[in-house]
Amino acid sequence: MAVATGPCPNCGSSIEFRAGSSLSLVCKYCKHVVVRTDRDMRNLGRVADVAFSDAALAPGDRGTFRGRSFSIEGRLVLQHPAGGTWEEYYAIFDGRNNAWISEAQGFWQVVTAANIAAPPLSSMQTQMQVPLGQHGIFVVGEKNEGTFLSGEGELPFAAAPGTRRLFVDLSAAGGGWASIDYGDGTTAPQVYVGVQTSFAEFQVQQRGGDRPAAKIATQSIKCGNCGAPLPVLSPGTERAACVHCNAISDVKLQQVVARQGQAREKPSIELGRKGVLPIADARGVVNAEWTVLGYVERSTGAPMSDEWFGWQEYLLYNVQHGYRWLVFDEGNFLLITPLSAGDVDASRAPLFVRRNNIHYRQRNAQQARVDFVLGEFYWKVEVGEVVWAEDYEHGREILSSEKNANEISWSHGVIIPTQVVVQAFGYQPKVSSYGEAPPAFSGFSGGGSTKTSPGLVIAVVAIVLLVFMMAACGSCLEGGGSGSSSSGGVRGIGGSSSGGFGGK
Ligand SMILES: [Zn+2]
Ligand SMILES: [Zn+2]
Repeated sequence: MAVATGPCPNCGSSIEFRAGSSLSLVCKYCKHVVVRTDRDMRNLGRVADVAFSDAALAPGDRGTFRGRSFSIEGRLVLQHPAGGTWEEYYAIFDGRNNAWISEAQGFWQVVTAANIAAPPLSSMQTQMQVPLGQHGIFVVGEKNEGTFLSGEGELPFAAAPGTRRLFVDLSAAGGGWASIDYGDGTTAPQVYVGVQTSFAEFQVQQRGGDRPAAKIATQSIKCGNCGAPLPVLSPGTERAACVHCNAISDVKLQQVVARQGQAREKPSIELGRKGVLPIADARGVVNAEWTVLGYVERSTGAPMSDEWFGWQEYLLYNVQHGYRWLVFDEGNFLLITPLSAGDVDASRAPLFVRRNNIHYRQRNAQQARVDFVLGEFYWKVEVGEVVWAEDYEHGREILSSEKNANEISWSHGVIIPTQVVVQAFGYQPKVSSYGEAPPAFSGFSGGGSTKTSPGLVIAVVAIVLLVFMMAACGSCLEGGGSGSSSSGGVRGIGGSSSGGFGGK
């Protein structure tokens, strides 16, 4: 049932508003934003031609989320100042509550409007603790802005394409998520509070409109430098570096944007390889199949100096669970899982930080630089890009933060047996320049042997895993580690935002 109808002021097509809370819609014939007023309908200009990168939800969908009914009324594409874009769905819960659903790097967020006063934008900074009424304490993960690029369906605000919106994203321990929309900075902020979730929690009972399949996903483009195929295995991929000529291409523009020199080392895991990791990560994901998307060489300290230290990282992707990293550092592999800012209590940093009541002591704080990349990445990776990185350790586990001026991202890392990486991804330990294989996971006697029968290896790995998981589950780890590492990973920074375009 339409709440308002009329001709499109641009093309004259008949348009109708379905939701009483919608203020504007994108005309499906001419792609102009049409805003309704008490008297007429006005044209706010045409949205950009942007392919929707994800077809998981679409306007017109109806379903339930944690027992509450929802309908998807519209969606929009926002440009992040770091170059990437992200999408948000405008939803209505229980037939009356405005909500936003968004996805970033495989993690979903659902927030609904809350009647809470927001602190002034100028007072907000990353990692700051902010009380949000009855919802408790949240931590600022990002303070940034998004530009309204494109959209479809109905929207609860009246903004012209190109309008910028200021926002702050926050998270809380245990999966809480919040976003504060500061509009253009002149209007009263609107607080949205909700949860982080996974797509599996959305029960779509009625599928609505078009689901434009991602144009770029799971196909391959051609390297603009050498013409070799450039595989693109994840729909979130922004940049891809050719394994034949090292040229870096922007996937959406399909053109070469940078060239780079030689790698320090050949990747020891083949890009594109799939493998199952039998170890539970910090989000509880276990036995998922991961695809190796990218390889990064990073370092800290001035090149050729005594302070210089380098390491390697492999980007992993699973369509349901998003991204993880395998970091190879000082002979050990670490499995790195992104966290939310609210998962970590950093109020006593740099002395220590806490997660789940476990204290992690600072191990190092340094600039981490990207030296070389191969494969595909979900952000606009650039050789030479630098973030401030801090590591905190507790036994075999680390908590790492990386930050720039607008954003902080935390991740959890845990040392995993090298044999697990051998089994899952065909990792070949290589002879180092000192003439021996790098040290395997300490306490694991079977590491690196190629003569052991596969069955025996699996049995040994299972036992080691069991021991390992028992060791990793409690607070009894102090001193048990073989020393973790300066991990890296430009994890989540840049174009990864979500939430915040709340509008009215
Ligand atoms: Zn029109
Ligand atoms: Zn090439």
